[in-house]
Amino acid sequence: MERSRDKLYRTEAVALRRVDVGEADRILTLYTPQFGKIRAIAKGVRRLTSHLGGHLELFTRSKLLLAKGRDLDYVSQAETVDPFIVFRDDPNLIWYPYYIAELLDRLSADNLANPPAYQLLLDTLGWVGRAKEPDLLLRWYELQLLGLLGYRPELHRCLICKTPLEPDEGHAFSVQGGVICPTCAPTQRATAISLASFKVLRLLQRSADYREVDKVHVSDTIGSEVKRILNSYLQYILERELRSAQFLAHAHEEIAVPINS
Ligand SMILES: [Zn+2]
Repeated sequence: MERSRDKLYRTEAVALRRVDVGEADRILTLYTPQFGKIRAIAKGVRRLTSHLGGHLELFTRSKLLLAKGRDLDYVSQAETVDPFIVFRDDPNLIWYPYYIAELLDRLSADNLANPPAYQLLLDTLGWVGRAKEPDLLLRWYELQLLGLLGYRPELHRCLICKTPLEPDEGHAFSVQGGVICPTCAPTQRATAISLASFKVLRLLQRSADYREVDKVHVSDTIGSEVKRILNSYLQYILERELRSAQFLAHAHEEIAVPINS
């Protein structure tokens, strides 16, 4: 009795991704407050009779009981806490949660607890359908998430000369990790950034509560510029992480050869 109880653990989770396997099973990528990103299998979940079924939908906040397995853990019980119903039926909003989940999935490492990132996920999903400008919500989420996962772009001191940045025209953004002052900008490979977009980036970074951002109106032009800047930065980070993961895999192979031979 004791032994089997030790193998069980409880956690809250949001399902970021799911892959159907076998006849009725599903492998879930879950984001949890105390274990970070984990993967677990839900046995028989695609059967109509499954008691797990409705409680393991994508982007649903659930309470789970999991059992330790050899390779993957098993979802034993699930109970919905918040289905974030607002965006479920609105075709204009349907891709937002997919993007929110995918970005977290791609930027976060497995089994690395980050309770603030979990809270950010809940907050952002909760704002989809309520935010006045849903695209601005995504930009806020991107900047907040980058900060929580260790990729916070520098918006207050020049990336090159470290001088405090004044609210002026003539700044540039570098995918190396932040803004460059008007003096250094011409010497660097960086994208020019308007003063308005610079200010929006700072607002998004300093507002831990989305309510402060939701009060602000951002024009389409500025919205597009901010989106371009953050997209290029995210692209750069994701490619760099991918390269270092490939390098590590390769390095392990290299090391493995003499040990095995
Ligand atoms: Zn500078």
